[in-house]
Amino acid sequence: MRQRRFVGRALSLEALIPAMAKETCDGCGEQVKIAGGIANLWTLEHDATGGMTLEFDSDGTEHFLCFDCIERLPDDPNAEDVAALRES
Ligand SMILES: [Zn+2]
Repeated sequence: MRQRRFVGRALSLEALIPAMAKETCDGCGEQVKIAGGIANLWTLEHDATGGMTLEFDSDGTEHFLCFDCIERLPDDPNAEDVAALRES
């Protein structure tokens, strides 16, 4: 998560994809931009994508979360931690 990778080709490919998809963050309920399609695999830059889907090891649940909420999750989070994000 904290590592930033720069992939030159991904940036130019980004320009070919005009439509940015939007997802609703499971934590704060914000609408979050996500890069569509294959570009998402290459660019995990915060600029290109505002969040990502995580599968928690602890309980196997999947949640789409913005990076702000991901930052606020404790180590080894579970579904209850996501629910708690909304209340704080
Ligand atoms: Zn959020």
